[in-house]
Formats: sequence, C-alpha cells, structure tokens
Amino acid sequence: MPIDATLPYDASNIFARILRGEIPNRTVYEDEHVLAFHDINPQAPTHVLVIPKGAYVSWDDFSVRASEAEIAGFIRAVGKIAREAGLVEHGYRLLANIGQHAGQEVPHLHIHIFAGAPLGPMLAR
Ligand code: 5GP
Repeated sequence: MPIDATLPYDASNIFARILRGEIPNRTVYEDEHVLAFHDINPQAPTHVLVIPKGAYVSWDDFSVRASEAEIAGFIRAVGKIAREAGLVEHGYRLLANIGQHAGQEVPHLHIHIFAGAPLGPMLAR
C-alpha cells in the first residue's frame, strides 16, 4: 500500500532498520551520508537502491530539510555508484517514487538505479 509522503518520518520503516543494522542487506556502497544496496526484488538485471543516512521520508522532505552537504553527497554518490558499476556505457535509469500516486512503498527516501538491459518505456501504459 503506497505511503502518505506528507506524514512525519517513521523510524520503524524497513530502510531505517537496515541503516541500524537490524536487517541484513547486500551493500554496494557506503559513505558518511549514503548507503546503497541491492533491491530484494529486482526489476532489472541491476537494481540498486540508494538512500541517505538521514531520516527523510521522500525527495520532497529531503529537498526541504537536508543540508547542502547531505544533498551534494547524495547526488554525487548516485553518480559514483553508477560509474563504478560500469553502467554509464550502456546507460541506466534513475527513479524516485514520492507518495501515493507514484506508489512509494517505503517511507524513507530512496533512488532506484535500474540497468543491465533495455528498460522499456518510461511509464507503464
Ligand atoms: P518504492 O515502491 O517505495 O519506490 O520501492 C521500495 C523498494 O524497496 C522495492 O523495490 C522493494 O523491492 C524494496 N524493498 C522492500 N523491502 C526491502 C528489504 O527489506 N530489503 C531490500 N534490499 N529491498 C527492499
């Protein structure tokens, strides 16, 4: 069930639990501001989730409340992860779902990185 992205941050969400080490993940990259790990239910040959370590519900929340260092760190990390995974040559897709119409399921900001094959149309028709 999609979440209401206007609600306050819920520290019991699954990605908060991953950040606290309560649930395992297959880590791809980690630094001061960011954790990236493989999606548990991949929708493409490469499907990585990139999350900020701070408590942000969505892109909307992050873009309002995050510090310049967190925002720069997050954006640069997404590019670095894709480059280091060798995704630039054949291309990749970034996706962030925000709230109900986008179908956001986990109320902690995450960017999906999809790659590894032609990804089809941008939106389901
Ligand atoms: P959303 O629909 O919120 O944009 O995407 C949530 C994503 O989180 C989904 O692609 C889903 O497969 C992934 N996911 C949900 N629970 C877990 C988990 O416990 N571990 C990992 N690695 N991915 C998860």
